[in-house]
Amino acid sequence: MEKAPLIIWFRRDLRLHDHPALQAAVAAGRPIVPLFILDPLAEDLGAAPKWRLGEGLAAFARSLEGLGSRLILRRGQALEVLRSVIAETGAEGVHWSRLYDPEARARDSAIKAALRAEGHVARSFPGHLLFEPWEVATKDGGPYRVYSPFWRAVQGRALAPSLPAVERLDTPSNWPRSESLADWQLGAAMNRGAQIVGKYAQVGEARALERLAQFLDERLDDYAQDRDFPAKPGTSGLSENLSLGEISPRTIWHAAWRRLHEGAPGAETFLKELVWREFAWHLYYHFPEMARANWRADWDAFAWRGDNADAEAWRRGMTGEPFVDAAMREMFTTGTMHNRARMIAASYLTKHLLTDWRVGLRWFEDCLIDWDPAANAMGWQWVAGSGPDAAPYFRIFNPAGQAEKYDPSGAYRSRFLAEGQRSPPEPARDFFAAVPRSWQITHDAAYPERLVALDQGRARALAAYQGLRG
Ligand code: FAD
Repeated sequence: MEKAPLIIWFRRDLRLHDHPALQAAVAAGRPIVPLFILDPLAEDLGAAPKWRLGEGLAAFARSLEGLGSRLILRRGQALEVLRSVIAETGAEGVHWSRLYDPEARARDSAIKAALRAEGHVARSFPGHLLFEPWEVATKDGGPYRVYSPFWRAVQGRALAPSLPAVERLDTPSNWPRSESLADWQLGAAMNRGAQIVGKYAQVGEARALERLAQFLDERLDDYAQDRDFPAKPGTSGLSENLSLGEISPRTIWHAAWRRLHEGAPGAETFLKELVWREFAWHLYYHFPEMARANWRADWDAFAWRGDNADAEAWRRGMTGEPFVDAAMREMFTTGTMHNRARMIAASYLTKHLLTDWRVGLRWFEDCLIDWDPAANAMGWQWVAGSGPDAAPYFRIFNPAGQAEKYDPSGAYRSRFLAEGQRSPPEPARDFFAAVPRSWQITHDAAYPERLVALDQGRARALAAYQGLRG
């Protein structure tokens, strides 16, 4: 008699390699029902991450079909869907890879309790992070709040090898019904030309693994020098794939670690960056309010401006500050933004425009195909000065000085700012093709005047900061 199947509930783990939840089901010798649920948490994603989820699901469904399996798609409350699919297939239960944001944790623990009470298997596994957030603790047993000791705590920690890719999946004799991805219209909110962002996205597990190999071969050696220059292809671009779990962080870690031991310059810097992601999730797990509230409560008294017309110009890449506008247009056109540019764009909004970091955080959440709630919240609070281990508020990035230092030839700005160029490059043109008509901006208009002179903006920010200090 056929063994009862197991459901693998895929969420942000759209891969076949290094997938403990899937491996455990395969090792149990059970037929597998791969399932994705469009539940209210997934429905609530910002426009670009939701569109990118659709692309990721399509690629993952193709990989499963390559193994003779399929991805079942269902919409609804996760617990109800799981109950129905268990009933339809006679499954023994469900496995999933853990998530660590407060909303997913609340949902998953309720589901685990309910399914177990009904006599089903409900097991969660690691896979989204290198270490479980509760495994890394200070001497007192508490969470870390500062990056450097966190890095020291994890750098030498034993990490089990990555699991090989699953190559065979037993199929159930009765497939449950599936909805159609096209009907879900996950790109519906991309009123800014999903086809433009689509040109720049690198979707799926196979592409992610190639990307890693290419990065290690071609760019790791110079990573420490090149990673700050947004015009150079100096970084891995893997945040896009990590966000949906198309590659496992452990696979990246081991590959870079091997290169470190072969003496590759740049490898340690790269591993440290990967650990910044880990640190963000450590913080977010222990302090889930950090995505909404100032980490340091004294910042609640700061005179932030709420959303405002200057912030709208910032969102549209029309502040008149070339490095900032290039950064904002890069994000709108490609769905990602270079890390240096993120810091400059975020600093400009929170300091020169005195606007609440949450206004910026929300826009990034809507535009980034590598959106990650922990890294985004940590990044914004770090730049704003309100976060743990943050840059002090008075350290205000000067976008013009930063441009001279990190974009000395102007290549990054020219790539994304069409104005004033006789034949602008494709990304600069793409921005104007992507923006909604309601913005009423065209590339043949003059480049905007500065919203605020840099020295005035700086002085205004420092005065507001003095107000906070009393
Ligand atoms: P690489 O330089 O190749 O680094 C490798 C990996 O390390 C990255 O893929 C990423 O997973 C991790 N990493 C690198 N830098 C950081 C960092 N500063 N914080 C956390 N993890 C890091 N990253 C996101 O993945 N999603 C976000 O939504 C996000 N929002 C941000 C918002 C702000 C305001 C700031 C300042 C930073 C934000 N970051 C975010 C962090 C960082 O900018 C990106 O991870 C990085 O640009 C991704 O490019 P890459 O994959 O080429 O990185």
